[in-house]
Amino acid sequence: MDKKLIFEKGSEGRKNSYVKKPSFDIVEPNQIIPEKFLRQDLPLPSLGEFEVVRHYTNLANLNFSLDANFYPLGSCTMKYNPKVNEELASLDGFIKLHPYQREDTIQGALELIYSLEDILCEITGMKKFTFQASSGAQGEFIGMAIIKKYHDSKGSRRSKVIVPDSSHGTNPATAALCGYDVVVVDSNDKGLVDLDKLAKLVDDDTAAIMLTNPNTLGLFEENICQISELIHKKGGLLYYDGANFNPLLGITNPVLMGFDVMHLNFHKTFSTPHGCGGPGAGAVGVVPELVDFLPIPVVAKKNNKFYFDYKIKHTIGRVRSFYGNFSVLIKAYVYLLMLGKEGLLRVAQNSVINANYIKEKLKGHYSLAYNSRCMHEVVFSCDKQKEKGVSALDISKRLLDYKIHPPTMYFPLIVKEALMVEPTETESKDTLDYFIKVMIEIDKEINQNPDKLKNSPHTMPVKRVNEVAAARFPNLKYTYEK
Ligand SMILES: *Cc1c(COP(=O)(O)O)cnc(C)c1O
Repeated sequence: MDKKLIFEKGSEGRKNSYVKKPSFDIVEPNQIIPEKFLRQDLPLPSLGEFEVVRHYTNLANLNFSLDANFYPLGSCTMKYNPKVNEELASLDGFIKLHPYQREDTIQGALELIYSLEDILCEITGMKKFTFQASSGAQGEFIGMAIIKKYHDSKGSRRSKVIVPDSSHGTNPATAALCGYDVVVVDSNDKGLVDLDKLAKLVDDDTAAIMLTNPNTLGLFEENICQISELIHKKGGLLYYDGANFNPLLGITNPVLMGFDVMHLNFHKTFSTPHGCGGPGAGAVGVVPELVDFLPIPVVAKKNNKFYFDYKIKHTIGRVRSFYGNFSVLIKAYVYLLMLGKEGLLRVAQNSVINANYIKEKLKGHYSLAYNSRCMHEVVFSCDKQKEKGVSALDISKRLLDYKIHPPTMYFPLIVKEALMVEPTETESKDTLDYFIKVMIEIDKEINQNPDKLKNSPHTMPVKRVNEVAAARFPNLKYTYEK
C-alpha cells in the first residue's frame, strides 16, 4: 500500500481524457459566481478520475470494519446489522419526509413510532418511551433530568446519585451534568454491588442509583430486588442503563427488577451501525409515575389519528430539534419485526452462550476477572501476562495482525489489565474458535517471541500511535508546496 497523500500523487497537467469536448453547453463557474469569489490558484492535485477512485478505495480498505472483521468490543455490541434494515429505511416514503410536514400527511411515520413504542413497552415492562435522544448518553441525560424534576415536583431536594465502581463512564458524567454529587459504591469480591456498603450510603438525600444488569463486568446482579428495596424505601429511584440489552431480551425486564427509568441503545442492541459518533438513538422508557415528565413532543393517538402531543404536565421540555433520528427508529422497528418474540429470545440466549464459550475456552490461558457465569460479555485480566512483561495493550495490538479488532481494554477500571470481550450472538462458532486459537497463540508468543508482540502490529499501515499527542496536537492541515 503506498502511503502517499493524494496531494503528493498528482502530476501537473494530468486529467481525464475521455471527455474531449462536451456535446452540451457548459456553464462556466464565472457565469454564476462573481469573479472576486473565484480562486484560480487553488493548490489542487492533478489526477485522472481512475487514480482518484483507486486512491480512496484503497484508503477505505484500510479501515477495520464490522462487515470485514470480527469486532469483539466489550460494552459496544458490535453485532451484524442486517442490510434489509438499510433497504427499508431508504424507502422514498421515509427519506423524503420533511419535519415541517403536517401531521395528517405523516400518519404512517407516526404510526411506526407508536408501534415501535408498543413493542418496547412489552419487552421492557415500561409504560411509555421517548425517542428524542440521539445517543445512549443523551438518553441518560433525559432520564436523570426526569428523575430530578420528579423529586422537585414533590418538593424534595436531593443531592446524591449512587453509581457502582464498575459503571460505564457516562453514568457518573450524566449524574454530574444534572447537578448531582456522584457517590461510588464498591463492588464485592464477586463483582456485584456490595449490599452492606450500599445500605450505608443510601439516605433521604439519595435521588437515584444508576445501574445496569448484567453489570459492566458482564455479571448478573443477583441482589437486584434487595437493591431496589433499599433505594425505594428512602424515596430514591432506580435508573437502568440498557445500552447493551441483548442478554435480557425475552427473558426478564427492568421493571420486574424494580427500575423506574431506562434507556436502550438502538445502535447497539437493535442493530443500527455505530461508531464514529452516530447517528444513533437512545430510547428512554419510564414507569407510569414518570410519564408526565417526558420531553415533548411524544406521539399519541386519538380517534384513530396519530399526533404529536405537547401537553405533558411536568415535561422536562424539549431536548433537541424535531423528533429524533427517525431513520434509526425505522431500522430498529424492522429488526424487531423480523425477529419476533422467538427470535429475540434466541438473540439473548446466543449472546450469553457465545460469551461463556469464549470464557470456558480461554480461562486456562488468561485470568478471569470474576470466575462465575457471565452474561453477554466476559472480562479477562492479563495480569499473568503482565508479570512476563506483556500488557493488555500489546495483546490487543497483536490481534490486529490476525485481522481481529481488539476487545475493550483497561475497562472496567477495577480490573487490572482488563480485556472485555463481547462476541455478540451473530458470530458463528468458527469465528469464535478462530479468536480463541489466536488468543492462545498470542499467549504462547509471550515466551517464544515477546519482542514481536511488543512491536506489533506488523501488518497495519500505522503501528503504535501517540494517542495523547494525536488528541492534543492534531495536524489537520497539509501544506502544499509547488
Ligand atoms: C455505549 C454505552 C453507553 C453510552 O451510549 P452512547 O450511545 O455511546 O452515548 C452507556 N452505557 C453503556 C453501558 C454503554 O455500553
